[in-house]
Amino acid sequence: MLKQDDFSSLSKFNFDLSDEQSLILENVDRACKVVRPVEDRRYLEHKYNEQVRKIFADAHLLGLPISRKYGDGQGADMLTYALTLERIGREGTGVRTFFSGHVSLGQLTVQRWGNEDQKSRYLVPASKGESVFAFALTEPGAGSDPASLQTSFEEKGGNFTLNGQKMWISNGSVADALVIFAYPSGKRDGMCAFIVDRGSEGFSAKAIENKMGLYSSDTGTIYLDNCIVPKENLLGPRGRGLSIAYSALMSGRLSVAAGCVGVIHDCLDEAVRYAGIRFQHGKLIGKHQLVQRHIGIMATNLEASRWLTLRAAYLRQKYEEQPTNPKLREVADSEIAKAKYFASNAAFEAANSAVQVMGANGFSLENRPGRHLIDTRVCRIYEGTDEILEQKIALSVLGKDFEAFS
Ligand SMILES: Cc1cc2nc3c(=O)[nH]c(=O)nc-3n(C[C@H](O)[C@H](O)[C@H](O)COP(=O)(O)OP(=O)(O)OC[C@H]3O[C@@H](n4cnc5c(N)ncnc54)[C@H](O)[C@@H]3O)c2cc1C
Repeated sequence: MLKQDDFSSLSKFNFDLSDEQSLILENVDRACKVVRPVEDRRYLEHKYNEQVRKIFADAHLLGLPISRKYGDGQGADMLTYALTLERIGREGTGVRTFFSGHVSLGQLTVQRWGNEDQKSRYLVPASKGESVFAFALTEPGAGSDPASLQTSFEEKGGNFTLNGQKMWISNGSVADALVIFAYPSGKRDGMCAFIVDRGSEGFSAKAIENKMGLYSSDTGTIYLDNCIVPKENLLGPRGRGLSIAYSALMSGRLSVAAGCVGVIHDCLDEAVRYAGIRFQHGKLIGKHQLVQRHIGIMATNLEASRWLTLRAAYLRQKYEEQPTNPKLREVADSEIAKAKYFASNAAFEAANSAVQVMGANGFSLENRPGRHLIDTRVCRIYEGTDEILEQKIALSVLGKDFEAFS
């Protein structure tokens, strides 16, 4: 159970940005301006936006929180990375989801758990955008309960052979390298994590069609049919797969929270813009008090989501600096869960409000609020559903004796 003291000793932070952080964020804004028209087009075509990778690689942003030792790593702290994802989130949840899969779930997991050989083989190209990462935990029969996954591995001839299927994987059909989880064949414990190359024998992937949104983002199904993985690609200690998955989800959830802050910001901007140009009943709609109510709630939720998210990013940074401190892990984990839960719900509400303020024009996918409304819905599902996070947050208060499932 977390006590108030656990938080107070960790809450000495402020948002004064250094010159270096400000320069990074100006660079992010410039890259986002390049992404916007491409994303507008790809979204309406319902096509994967393959330009995102190149635009952000050219801006040196694909290795932002990765150590400078590897490729285009910039060594940025978690607060800077969260502020970056907030800006990217304004361009659309599909664009931000690319980052979540490639950087937060993929590269940061290899940085945290990989050995030097794996880091130089995988982080160097990934941070430069020469390869794309994905994180494959979910299966057709295992979502909220990853411990129930069925993918298995055997050790044969000095390699691992993986069998199984992964589903709903962001960047899944375009990724060059994937972090994949499997149990030893015939066992239900000792889960391991592997880095699997797209070109491996027995590996295939295909894009999932007919999603209800995220049109410009790739989501794939992965087939592992006696897939050969070299023994050097076991990621982290043998048997620690679940810990690796949960630590990756911490980074992933933070990225979702930060992206959702950007969504709220964009929805507020769009609603304010429209309320200042649209006349009905002889006055600007922004002068109608019921329209003002939408703006007031959005503005409040923007600040609430941002504070929760930046505080969570600060705690994630502290945890990064002391990864063996269990109390810090517990605090970072619960505060990230709160930020993701609150910001994803607030983003969905903000998108709904912005659509309402824009009336029929809000209902068009040519305007971002409508796209945000469709796309942010998944933020309440992936990286921990609302229900799972509600229970996780409650447990951080009630204590482990109240755990309903492990
Ligand atoms: C677009 C998209 C991208 C994704 N990207 C990735 C990715 O990159 N990598 C990856 O591994 N996965 C990814 N996922 C999968 C995602 O993480 C799962 O969808 C999520 O974990 C929920 O699992 P599920 O869909 O199987 O739902 P289920 O777990 O089957 O849940 C169904 C419902 O039951 C509820 N429920 C389940 N268990 C409990 C419980 N104990 N108590 C209360 N309620 C419960 C859930 O909250 C939910 O409402 C992605 C999904 C989507 C849609």
